[in-house]
Amino acid sequence: MSITTNLKEIQKQIPEEVRLVAVSKYHSVDDIREAYNAGQRIFGESKAQELIAKHEELPQEDIQWHFIGHLQSNKIKYIAPFISLIHSVDTFRLLKNINKEAKKEGRIIPCLLQLHIADEDTKYGFSFTECRDMLKEGKWKELKNVKIAGVMGMATFTEDENLVKSEFKALKDFFSEIQKEFFTTNEDFTEISMGMSQDYPIAIKEGSTLIRVGSKIFGERIY
Ligand SMILES: *Cc1c(COP(=O)(O)O)cnc(C)c1O
Repeated sequence: MSITTNLKEIQKQIPEEVRLVAVSKYHSVDDIREAYNAGQRIFGESKAQELIAKHEELPQEDIQWHFIGHLQSNKIKYIAPFISLIHSVDTFRLLKNINKEAKKEGRIIPCLLQLHIADEDTKYGFSFTECRDMLKEGKWKELKNVKIAGVMGMATFTEDENLVKSEFKALKDFFSEIQKEFFTTNEDFTEISMGMSQDYPIAIKEGSTLIRVGSKIFGERIY
C-alpha cells in the first residue's frame, strides 16, 4: 500500500468535522512530500530537532505543523516561529514558557492541555485533578500569547476496546466539564485530540475532533 492510498482510505472513514494529523515522526521528507502531494496539509512531529529540519525542507506556505511529543522548555524557541498547534502541554510552567517565546515572535500559539487518561504511567499529561487545580488557580488567564484550544489524550495501548472507549469518554467528559467552567466565552476552546492508528475509529465515535495517525499512513516506524 502506498502513502497516497493509505491516506485516501483513512480520509474516506472520517467525518468532515474531524481533522487528520498525519504523524510523520521518524519518516523521511520524501514520504511527507508524497502525503503533501496527495493533499495532506497537517503533519505531527514529536521531536523539536526533527521538526525544524523538516519544516525547512518542505513547503512553508500551507503546511501546518503540530507538535505532539514531550516538549522541553529549551526547545520551544526553535519551533515558536512557525508551529500551528502544540498538543502536549502538561504543566503550567511549559505553558508559561511557550507564552514567553510566542511573545518574542509576536505570535499567539494555540495549545492543547494533555491529560493522562491511560492505565499506564509511561505516558505524560496532567491528571484531571492537577488540570482542574491549574485552571482554578487562574494564572493562565494572564498569558496573552497562548490560546488554550482544547485537550489531548492517549489511551492505553491494549486490545481491550472497552477500556480504550472508557478512557476517550472520560477525556470528552472532562473537556465538556472545563469548557463549561472555564471557557464558556472562549470560542477557540473546541478541540479534542484523541485517536491513533489502532484506535481512531473508537476515538471518532467518542467525539474526537483531531486524530493523530502515523503508522497507518506511513508504515511501521523504525526506532
Ligand atoms: C507517535 C504518536 C502518534 C501516532 O501513532 P501511530 O500509532 O503511529 O498512529 C500519535 N500521537 C502521539 C502523541 C504520538 O507520539
